[in-house]
Amino acid sequence: MPTIRLQGISKRYPGSTASAVDSLDLTVNDGDFMCMLGPSGCGKTTTLRMIAGLEQPTGGSISVGDRVLDSVEQGVFVAPERREMGLVFQSYALWPHMTIRQNTEYGLRLRKVGRAERSSRADEVMNVMGIGRFADRYPSQLSGGQQQRVALARMLAVNPGVMLLDEPLSNLDSRLRLEMRTELKRIHQDFRSTIVFVTHDQWEAMTLATRIAVLADGRLQQIGTPTDIYDRPRNRFVAGFLGNPPINIIEFTDDEPAPHIAAAHRFAETRLHGATAVPGSIGIRPESIRIEPPSQAPAPDALTIDASIFAILPTGGSWTIEAVADGRHLFATTSVPPTCRPGDDVRLRVAAHEVHVFDTEGERVGL
Ligand code: ATP
Repeated sequence: MPTIRLQGISKRYPGSTASAVDSLDLTVNDGDFMCMLGPSGCGKTTTLRMIAGLEQPTGGSISVGDRVLDSVEQGVFVAPERREMGLVFQSYALWPHMTIRQNTEYGLRLRKVGRAERSSRADEVMNVMGIGRFADRYPSQLSGGQQQRVALARMLAVNPGVMLLDEPLSNLDSRLRLEMRTELKRIHQDFRSTIVFVTHDQWEAMTLATRIAVLADGRLQQIGTPTDIYDRPRNRFVAGFLGNPPINIIEFTDDEPAPHIAAAHRFAETRLHGATAVPGSIGIRPESIRIEPPSQAPAPDALTIDASIFAILPTGGSWTIEAVADGRHLFATTSVPPTCRPGDDVRLRVAAHEVHVFDTEGERVGL
């Protein structure tokens, strides 16, 4: 399947002053499992609907390989049914008067596939999705999770090169959701499909995606592998959107900063030595913090912050430790049973390469 390319794609809904999607450039390569991730209202669904042809862009172009599907400038718009893409939306939109088998065969029937082949294809994908035993039931006789699996089976039956999925696991309980994630990953590998997947769930994106596109306010914030996005967030929004507990941010705004802020500021300036950027804040992921006794000599290539332990919260196999430095609460996580106790004075140590430095605009600077 050739590359899907969105160039300067915008969408402004009639009567709306702001753009739901604003000059978005996005490339989805053959075999990508691309997750579009972002908070509610950031434009994920609108983008997916434009790729599907269910919504017309108000600016820019969408192409697949050499074939232009949308171009506002050239006045091109290819109808959804001619885009050869499979769709599964949050509302599974099954035909209520058709059995599960008939629903699964629906796309094949539209494509005029013969009865015998239709039937064997449907059997195959119903088995893959674990819904074979419901073949003769109607959608209203299935649970939400089972219906969602039928919607996926209906799409898989036609084996489209591109699958567009909008929160397809949102109606499943957490256990089934986990199972379906594994299933989707397997489908992606077995069917060698290209998947564009919309979610607001960071862990879903981290576990499924080959690449993640993070959106906010209709704009692309960063695109990269899950590791890139997590380890090298391009700005403070991306840094804060991924991670639980969230990244600790220390801002350098005060004229007379508290000791830990002054220490962090000095550290950031040393790190940016020679660069023109002015550090505005640093970010420290909770798992980057080591907790040491205060007597421990500060390591030369690390940021150290004096703090005291406020609370220790067991989270089942790991612990969240809440520390306080000059009245500010900082969160650390560890998978090793902590030896400190609430009230203990400690030193928080963060290796230099694990300190994210942002400029006054919130953009990443340095490494
Ligand atoms: P969610 O995760 O809540 O589904 P999203 O990131 O998918 O959100 P969109 O549904 O694409 O976001 O919506 C983007 C923006 O466009 C929102 O501000 C929304 O209110 C607006 N919007 C979406 N559909 C329409 C519509 N049909 N008419 C007018 N505005 C719309």
